[in-house]
Order: sequence, then C-alpha cells, then structure tokens
Amino acid sequence: MQTVYPFGGDARHDDPRQRDKTVTGGKGANLAEMASIGLPVPPGFTITTEESVRYLNEGEAFSDKLRADVANAIAHIERAVGKRLGDAGDPLLVSVRSGARVSMPGMMDTVLNLGLNDATVEGLAANSGHKRFAWDSYRRFIQMYSDVVLGVEHGLFEEALEIAKEDRGYFSDTELEAKDLQALVAEYKAIVERERSEPFPQDVQEQLWGAIAAVFESWDADRAKVYRRLNDIPSDWGTAVNVQAMVFGNMGETSATGVAFTRDPSTGERAYYGEWLVNAQGEDVVAGIRTPQYLTRARREAAGATLPSMEEAMPDAFAELARVFDLLETHYKDMQDIEFTVQEGTLWMLQTRNGKRTAKAALKMAVDMVAEGLIDEETAILRVDPMALDQLLHPTLDPDAARDVLAKGLPASPGAASGKIVLDADTAELWAKREEAVILVRVETSPEDIHGMHAAKGILTARGGMTSHAAVVARGMGRPCVSGASAVSINLATRTLRIGDRELQEGDVLTLDGAAGEIMAGRVATIEPQMEGDFGTLMEWADRHRRMGVRTNAETPEDCRTARQFGAEGIGLCRTEHMFFDAGRISAVRAMILADDEAGRRAALDRLLPEQRGDFAEIFRTMAGLPCTIRLLDPPLHEFMPTRDEEFDALADELNVSADHLKRRASELHEFNPMLGHRGCRLGITFPEIYEMQARAIFEAACEVTGDGGEPVVPEIMIPLVASRRELEILRVLVDRVAEEVFAERGARVDYLVGTMIELPRAALMAGEIANEARFFSFGTNDLTQTALGVSRDDAGRFLGPYVEKGIYARDPFVSLDIDGVGQLVELAAERGRATRGDIKLGICGEHGGDPQSIAFCEEVGLDYVSASPYRVPIARLAAAQAAL
Ligand code: ADP
Ligand code: MG
Ligand code: MG
Repeated sequence: MQTVYPFGGDARHDDPRQRDKTVTGGKGANLAEMASIGLPVPPGFTITTEESVRYLNEGEAFSDKLRADVANAIAHIERAVGKRLGDAGDPLLVSVRSGARVSMPGMMDTVLNLGLNDATVEGLAANSGHKRFAWDSYRRFIQMYSDVVLGVEHGLFEEALEIAKEDRGYFSDTELEAKDLQALVAEYKAIVERERSEPFPQDVQEQLWGAIAAVFESWDADRAKVYRRLNDIPSDWGTAVNVQAMVFGNMGETSATGVAFTRDPSTGERAYYGEWLVNAQGEDVVAGIRTPQYLTRARREAAGATLPSMEEAMPDAFAELARVFDLLETHYKDMQDIEFTVQEGTLWMLQTRNGKRTAKAALKMAVDMVAEGLIDEETAILRVDPMALDQLLHPTLDPDAARDVLAKGLPASPGAASGKIVLDADTAELWAKREEAVILVRVETSPEDIHGMHAAKGILTARGGMTSHAAVVARGMGRPCVSGASAVSINLATRTLRIGDRELQEGDVLTLDGAAGEIMAGRVATIEPQMEGDFGTLMEWADRHRRMGVRTNAETPEDCRTARQFGAEGIGLCRTEHMFFDAGRISAVRAMILADDEAGRRAALDRLLPEQRGDFAEIFRTMAGLPCTIRLLDPPLHEFMPTRDEEFDALADELNVSADHLKRRASELHEFNPMLGHRGCRLGITFPEIYEMQARAIFEAACEVTGDGGEPVVPEIMIPLVASRRELEILRVLVDRVAEEVFAERGARVDYLVGTMIELPRAALMAGEIANEARFFSFGTNDLTQTALGVSRDDAGRFLGPYVEKGIYARDPFVSLDIDGVGQLVELAAERGRATRGDIKLGICGEHGGDPQSIAFCEEVGLDYVSASPYRVPIARLAAAQAAL
C-alpha cells in the first residue's frame, strides 16, 4: 500500500485511495482532485493518515519505507518545479501542511517556506530578484518552524518584530526593508539558540523531517483533543501530511493571497465572497494581522471601503479565479471554501473543501442548487445537517425592540445572544457552569479559546475578519459572533472594556446581533423564528421522503401549538404528572398522596378530575384529531411531597389534621431508590383509583371534544414501567372498564388504544408476551438506557465526561442512543412485539427521538414514528428523511 501520493506536475492521480479522505485527508484528497481536473495546483505529495497513526503507535519513529518514499516524492516536486531542496543557488521551498479527514480549523499546524537557511536565502534573493521577499520568507519560516516544531513561544518573535518596527518608526510589517528583515532574522536565530540551547537547524532534511514529525504529533496536542471531543471526531483517525512547493503571495504588488467562498457562507447568497491581501503570505488573512480587502467590487462598494477589491486591482487574476470558482462548483456540486495565492500575476490554488456555512445559508444553498439543476431534491435533503436547524428554530432579535447600539463589527456568524461580558475563555467556562449566559469578548481568538467559545452564548472580537479564527469556529458551533469590532478595546488588568466612548465591566450585560454585526448594551427582546421560505421548502421535501411519522413530547397546549407549527403529527408522549404541579392542584395531589386510606385518596382525586379533564380537552382540541399518546402517572410520589415546614403546615390546615401526622406519613413513604421504587404502573396496581381518575378524565375529555363536532379523538393510553404481561393486563382491564362506564354515562363512544412503554430490559425481553395486551409500544429510551446500563440519569454527570473522553461511551448515551447495547433491546422488542401482533404501533419517546443518529437507528429497525420535544420536531423530520434515503 502506498504511503505517499504525489500530486500536481506529472503525477497521475489514478489510485482511488488518493481521492479518499480517510487515506489522504481532506486537504490532500482535494489537492489531488483539483490537480486532476486541470486546476493550477503547486506540485506536492501527501503522506497518508495511516502513516501518522503508525508513527504515533510505534514510538514516534519513521519507517525506512516512508523515508524512501518521501525522498522519491521530493524528487517529483523538484522535477516539476525545476529547483532542488537545499540548493544554495536556486532552492526549492515547500510547505508542510496537516490535513485530517475532516477540516479542523486552526487545530493542526502548518510550516511555510521550509528549505530556507543562511545559504539558500541568498539563492532565493538572487534568483527571484527580490531581496526583501527572501528575507521576509526566511524570518517567517524561523518563526513558524520554531513555534510549531521546536516549541519556542511565538510571542518572543512577535515582540522582536514589534520592537524592530517601533525602532524604525514603522506601523506595518510591509514597511520593513530587506536589511531590517535580515537583522530580524539574526535576532530570531538568537532567540532560538537562547531558548533551545542549539542553533536553528540549517540542514533542510532535518527541517523536513522535523516538520513532518510535528504535524504527526499535533494530532495529539491538547487543543486538537478538545476539538475532537466537541465534534465527535474519533481519536484514531490521525492526520495526513501535505508537502507542497511554495508559491509566493509576498513577491510585491502583483502578488497576493486570499481565502474565498463560491457563495456567501453567512446568507447563502450566490455571490463570490472572500478576502485578500496584496503582497502577503498564507496565514496573514486569517490571522487578522492586516485588515483584509474585499474580493469583489460590489462588496467593497456596499461596505464603503476604499482599498481596491481584487476585481479592481487584479482583473486578470480575478477573472481566472472566477473561472475556477465555476469549475469547482460544477465539479463538487457544492459551495467551496478555497485558499489561493497569486504569484506575480499567476493564480495558484492551495486548498478547496466544502465550505462551512450557517444553517440559513445551508438551507438557501440547498434549495437554490435544486432550482439551478446542480443537485436533486434528495441531495438537498442530505446536504443540511439536521442539528444545524436548531440555529433557525430559536428566537432572533425583535426588529422593533429598542437597541442601544454601542458599535458595529463584522457580521461573522448570525443569531442573537445576550449575556454577561467575560474577558477570557476560562472565566467563560466557569460562569457558564454556574448557568450564567456569557458573551466572550477577546481581541481575537485562538485555538486555546475553544472551550470558552463553546461555553459562551456569543463571541465578540476586536480584531480579525470574516474568516478569522473566531468567525470560522463560531459559525461551526452555531454561536453568534461579531468580529473585527475595532471600537472595542479591552483592558485585562482592570477587567474592563471600552466600546466607543462607553466604559463597561466584566459582568455587564451585552447583546450581539451576529447577522447585523451590532453590539448593544443590555438585553434586547427577541421574536420567534420564521418557518416559511427555504425552511418550508426543505421541510416539504423532507416530509415527502420520510417513512416514519414525527410526533412531539408535549403536555401544555402551548407546547402542542409550537410543535404543530413545527410540523408535529401527533403527541408521542404527554406526561400527565406535569399537570400536577400547577399551583391550584399541588395541594390536592399532596392530599391524595398523604391520605391514610382509599377514601381519603378518592376525595382528593375527585378534586383533580375536572382539572385533568380540562387539560386533556384543551390538548385534544389543539391537536385536532391527531393521535395523542397519554402516559398515566409515572414518577415516584415523593416528587410531589411537601418539603418545607410551611408547606406541611398549610396542608395540615387544609386537611384538618396535624402537621406531625403528615410528616409521619411522608416519612413512611420515603424510598431509598425511588427511580426503581414505587412508581409507574406499580402506582396503578397499588392505588388503582389514581389511574381510574386519569382514565376517566381522558375519556370524558375525548367524548366532550368529539361530541363538540371536533375531529374525532382517538386517545392512546400508555402505561409506564411495565415489566410483565400480567401488570399490563390488570391495568388494561381497568382502563377498559372505566371506558365502558364513561361511554355508558355519556351515551357516546370514542376509539382508543391501550399500550405500554418499553423502558425496562425485562419488558424488552418479554415484549412478545406483553404485546398480547398492548396495541402499541413506545420505547422510553431514557429509562431503558438507565436500567440497561445501570446508570442513574441524575447522577451520571459525575463520571460521564471521563467516560466519553476515554472512549468507554462513544457519546453520552442519554443524548444519543447506545445502539450497540440498548439498541439490541429495542430491536428485539420490536421483533417480538410484531411477531405477536402484526399491526402493533411502534414509536420512541425518549430524548433520543430528537437525535439524528438515534433516528437513523429507529428507521433501520422500522419504528413507525419518533417523538421529540417541540423545538426538535423539524430536526426529527429532516433526520427521518435522511434516514429513509
Ligand atoms: P490551515 O489548515 O490552518 O488552513 P494550511 O495548510 O491550509 O493550514 O496552510 C496555512 C496557510 O498557508 C494557508 O493560507 C495556505 O493557503 C498557505 N499555504 C500552504 N501551503 C502553501 C504553499 N505551498 N504556498 C503558499 N501558501 C501556502
Ligand atoms: Mg487551509
Ligand atoms: Mg420512563
């Protein structure tokens, strides 16, 4: 198997492994692909991800085969470029770039201008005729190499650079002349020698292998690990290494570098979008060292900027770029995010990948591209990440609310957020743990800030463009972000900041509008999201392609209405106990629980009956004939118990008994392990009058609403925590009896189903038996996960983090179904249930019903529907369609 794949020049690109991202990484695979369709790509080669895994596993040593293959591949570049690595007369320079399977922005390190030393720098100067350029490249190389490979603090170089500029009265890096840079190189080398006690490596082979090792090892750097954890990236993928001939954007006024998107990644609009800098190299644009210029004239004019756009300053190179954009979109059939460099008027492509985009842009692009005939409906459905819809389903700033705008920055990532100002990532994390909404405010962000960005509701930076680290990461995380707000100045010593002429402190509340780039003082009112337009179109397509139904978990009419707006086709889980907590009812509930006997319980239940009936009637009306699964009382009774003395006293007054008596009764009811105690159907078995009251309320409400001329109501009555057929049989008989009583009293009938939750391992195993009594199963995967794993949902927080980090659980099993384990129980119960009752209805109502990976599994085992919380309904609709395709 090849360890190294050459690209560009006369390379063949015909081994399918070379285009396989799992082998050559995203960057390498796309460089080969671009070269193969004839785009101008500087020649280079890719070392496979397999080699990096081998290197990390085998004690960080290179194999002889790898050494030989790399030597051959270097020869390939040398042939293509006509220069030799380390040749003092006319040196080849290369970049050494990391590239994992998926893009990990800013996570892995890249070294540019490798191959420079005291001798080759002279050759580069002589041959290019640009002395300044050669020395600038050399000082950049020392800085990057020392930082990435030798571990020398990059701030030391920054400092030296700042002093060099100050001494000479310069503002910008570009004012430094060749001789200044030459002096700076000497200083840089001295810094390295001081920090490392050995000179900066002059041997180009040593440089090359040092850089390759550093890229391999960067896979295991802390910040890469954090990113992997946040993004569910397995730790055994490793990274490829790309070694590529350098092209130079820093060779003067006809050279430039830039990043671009073939469409607007924020709005999805079909317009070239990007940033570029004249006479600059690689990372200058992203790092926000100089403020980048607009790519197109239209953008520049819209922004009222004065520096010329690339379209105006370099029309030929821009025309070539536009041609490449079109080729790339036709080829990849998706929006591309590219890096390019212009060397003395000639365009070179350095990277392309499917561009990250906001949810709004993803929707618009998917819908537009279908209209353009670029992709079909199915592809459009698969294009949009269901979880990203979340960004669109949440409130945005009310356009009519008063806004105290302090300043404007760049609209780097849309959405609105209010929160307390925090000035560093650790504080952001700390405060967020205390449940405080925070806005992270930084001069600019770096990969070290990732955990704080994740903890924050929004991100504000004083520097950096639309493609800065902050902007890219925020868009990826779905956090609103305003970047490059130059009116913001931060004083870390006093923990204050100044925005324009206003002085603010850490802890003051700020609101960001990431779509407008606005920074506002205080909190600003928000409005509900829009469900029409592209969103509606995509949802319509999703509904056409999905097999499973999508219901909602809801118990209030308001939740029901929200869920219906989001497209819910019924209620999969209505938790009746939620209705018990209302102020007017809790005392009746408590009276019932603490009653000494059945008569006492019945008296209290009589008070609850009309209340429950009213609730159900309203829900049935709201759901207008859609199926409603109502679960009878489930939680352990202690959840309703009074705890404070005043509560006992008040209840004692009401019931005309002593508070002490009630307290004694309460302590009799105490349970050591309530989640495995007196709850669920066990309550129905021991206190049948509770379930009788609830069944009666359901049937009376159903008769009432159906009789009103509304859509006929077909309640689905669900018995929780069943473990055996007999349990369900007893309660099914009870429900049927109550139904007949109500129908006789009302002189009317409604259809109804009795079914059960499958949420205990025994229930899953006995599903074939239980199905004799159940018209439907609903998988209660929260409890099923808890009972199958023997992990308490409420206490798992203490160890879940380390368990996920150590790979014991791939993901939090309460968020994403443990398909390997708990999934087997679901599959088995579905099979056994169907074997007994062919038309048994199967659904899922745990949190997992709104998780795309779990939904894909539900499709696989052929469930009839999933049920998710109201805001997750659209996510579930899209995920169900993706699962069906
Ligand atoms: P990242 O993944 O962080 O973007 P890259 O490997 O893409 O890292 O490189 C960092 C920067 O250096 C980018 O701007 C890229 O375009 C530039 N660059 C990489 N290789 C070369 C090269 N051979 N010639 C010129 N610029 C390069
Ligand atoms: Mg890149
Ligand atoms: Mg349960």
